[in-house]
Amino acid sequence: MTGTTRRVAADLPYPVKVEPGCLATIGDFVREVAPAFRYAIITDSHVGPLYGNAVAESVGVSPDDVLAIPAGESSKTRGSWGWLTDQLLSRNFGRDSAIIALGGGVVGDLAGFVAATYMRGLPIVQIPTTLLAMIDSAIGGKVGVDTPSGKNMVGAFHQPMGVMADTQVLATLRLNDLRTGFAEALKHGVIADRSYFESVVSSIPAIVYSVAEAGDRVSDLVVGSIEIKSAIVSRDEHEGGLRKLLNFGHTAGHAVEILSGFKMSHGEAVAIGMVIEATIAEVAGVAEKGTAETIRSALAGAGLPIERPEGMDADRMLEVMRTDKKVRGGRIQYSLPSRIGRMAGSNSGWTVSVSDEIVREVIA
Ligand code: NAD
Repeated sequence: MTGTTRRVAADLPYPVKVEPGCLATIGDFVREVAPAFRYAIITDSHVGPLYGNAVAESVGVSPDDVLAIPAGESSKTRGSWGWLTDQLLSRNFGRDSAIIALGGGVVGDLAGFVAATYMRGLPIVQIPTTLLAMIDSAIGGKVGVDTPSGKNMVGAFHQPMGVMADTQVLATLRLNDLRTGFAEALKHGVIADRSYFESVVSSIPAIVYSVAEAGDRVSDLVVGSIEIKSAIVSRDEHEGGLRKLLNFGHTAGHAVEILSGFKMSHGEAVAIGMVIEATIAEVAGVAEKGTAETIRSALAGAGLPIERPEGMDADRMLEVMRTDKKVRGGRIQYSLPSRIGRMAGSNSGWTVSVSDEIVREVIA
């Protein structure tokens, strides 16, 4: 893997850098973008032992101030938020402190919510360590936690002071956790750029074979997705319209994730959600014929699930989808493609309302 630094997302007000091998020297970046008297590192039980020391040493953080939550979605809760907040309070972190999120999307969302609320807000630097976090969750400032009622039900918008991705750390990711990043990368292609979609499809086999040997393909994928996401969130920070495009696959996907009891990862559930919602788009006459099949075959090629899990009830799914944050006036609003690289709904706030009958028919 080359060590070229790529400064991306020029349209965002904070720096985003992709640099293989940057983790050991990340202190310079952190101090530059978020100067603070003291730093706390929030990480998880997988990432902390692998990379916590390197980052702590580079930034100059005491090992005592590296706070690790148990790895996994089940930690993205108000309980973890409370525990982390109490840890910071008991260590006397003041308003002259900053938070460093070192981990995947769970750590980034949770640490971001801690930072958003601690003493009415501390700066945060995102150091994403999964493919999904590098290309998606670390960018755009959506932070929060899950509740028994649903995903990300309590949260805030809290933009990072900077984002730095070291693609070399992806080499220690379990294959399934790597695959989930492909779901969001393909989503970016569907919503904005057909040629990016095709380049992701063609890069996946080499990246799956060996992240370490895939070289620039990994950086290109990360940079390509960040450019698409940042172009959207910089124009619509608080999801008034355009940003809703990023929800493609997430209405059905969140329902699948919740009904699986979070046994299914976010990316896997989104993959199924994308197939369901692309099919809804075709049946509703919104998308060109063949769109759903192209998406389905790209996701299957990435080794992602594409079918509703056996035993997951269609009516129950619809019920959970109705509790989604995207429901307006009692109707579920979908972000649907019209073809690969183009989304429907430009005249209706980038969402489309579809009858429950069509949705039930497709899910069933
Ligand atoms: P995750 O954070 O649970 O990470 C997946 C697994 O990989 C975990 O076990 C983690 O410990 C491990 N891991 C992380 N980095 C590693 C590394 N370099 N080497 C070895 N193991 C490593 O999951 P995720 O897929 O990164 O993120 C999913 C979360 O992101 C969901 O909660 C989802 O809602 C959220 N999300 C947020 C946004 C947003 O805009 N805020 C966007 C998309 C997804």
